[in-house]
Amino acid sequence: MSLLIKNGRIITAVDDYHGDVFIDAERVAVIGKDLSIEADQLIDATGKYVFPGGVDPHTHLDMPFGGTTSADDFETGTLAAAHGGTTTLIDYAIQFKGESTLAALETWHKKADGKTAIDYGFHMIVTDMEDDRLWELKRLADEGVTSYKLFMAYPGLLYVDDGTIFRTMRKAGENGTVVCMHAENGIVIDEIVKRALKEGKTAPKYHALTRPTRMEAEGTHRAISIAEVADVPVYIVHLSSSDALEQVTLARNRGVNVYAETCPQYLFLDYSYYEQEGFEGAKYVMTPALREKWNQDELWRGLQFGDLQSIATDHCPFCFKEQKELGIDDFSKIPNGAPGVENRMALVYNGGVNGGRITLNKFVELTSTSAAKTFGLFPKKGTIAVGSDADLVIFNPGREETISIKNPCTHHMRVDYNAYEGFRVKGFPETVISRGKIIVDNCDYVGRKGDGQFIKRGLYSGIR
Ligand SMILES: [Zn+2]
Repeated sequence: MSLLIKNGRIITAVDDYHGDVFIDAERVAVIGKDLSIEADQLIDATGKYVFPGGVDPHTHLDMPFGGTTSADDFETGTLAAAHGGTTTLIDYAIQFKGESTLAALETWHKKADGKTAIDYGFHMIVTDMEDDRLWELKRLADEGVTSYKLFMAYPGLLYVDDGTIFRTMRKAGENGTVVCMHAENGIVIDEIVKRALKEGKTAPKYHALTRPTRMEAEGTHRAISIAEVADVPVYIVHLSSSDALEQVTLARNRGVNVYAETCPQYLFLDYSYYEQEGFEGAKYVMTPALREKWNQDELWRGLQFGDLQSIATDHCPFCFKEQKELGIDDFSKIPNGAPGVENRMALVYNGGVNGGRITLNKFVELTSTSAAKTFGLFPKKGTIAVGSDADLVIFNPGREETISIKNPCTHHMRVDYNAYEGFRVKGFPETVISRGKIIVDNCDYVGRKGDGQFIKRGLYSGIR
């Protein structure tokens, strides 16, 4: 199948021009002016932007957590991502303690294989890493899993001690791979949580009030310091606060190889969402928690000046009914996570570009190119160039939508609420193309389950 996109405004992380894109055999074959090439399909993109498909490097599909499982699996989660203009995601596979990471990878392959609407890769969450298992990390890299994630939070569950962090980081550095960190001091936080529960503080808002930003900053500082000594690039996931950002900025100014992502929830939502009536705040129980609103300006500053490199979703949906309700009497039992994979591109465009905070090029960098580069997908993904995968979004900058679970254009996630309910956005992904095939056509899904492929990612390619 070949496809010709005419008269679009083509935007990459560095380019901005009007032109035509001819796609053949799943890749961009020719880019030029007034192309007259015979194609099986034609799209007129006059008045619209042509963006590289979004890359979301942080999702949790079909993930067991707190006695339940995240509500989207690889079929529904990737379909929702596609509707929102994301054409690649990197999901987190989990090694459970005592299990081989290679066996864990096989488990996650089985969850995803043949089910996805878009291409995907895996990071590996490492929960134990003794010396006799270190060889597995290289094997994972050979299998295309070139980044690992370690948790300083969730003691007894995902938490690893600093020795394990250092051991894993040193080996990862030798192998040319990247370590992602959930940087929050979970040991101290657990003590604060215990005390709150003892005092009868059980409502959802105490999830936030027991997780001070200082503990995120401490984790961030410690992660960076250990990575510096272990000589490995470190990527701080879901950075949520000014305090933590300060640590990243200080380290980058010192020349340390640290990257960080933030998420739409930290840019557009804030602590006040926990103060809603009844149990509503449970919808926003995620980790890190939503912060006081003033942090948002600092995060935007971090994005503008390059101290934060990408915007991921940490999509980890749990239904309000039955799942979030597990914690109705005890906030610490509310499954942590919220939906977002579908709404990222429109939210960031609206708040960032329309909001006058970032340029069009920066928008592409933050939602696609940067993650593709950090995680070994570039230039296959993350740009529009001859030879790159034809993952493209035809984006209508004038189209307005109200994000809502009731709007058939904005909610395909398998979860009974939308975290951005009622948000108005201007600018919307209308046509989504994955490896040369139209999969979303004006809100209609026209792809097929299993269109997506697992992508073996490359090694880390150098400092940015
Ligand atoms: Zn996460």
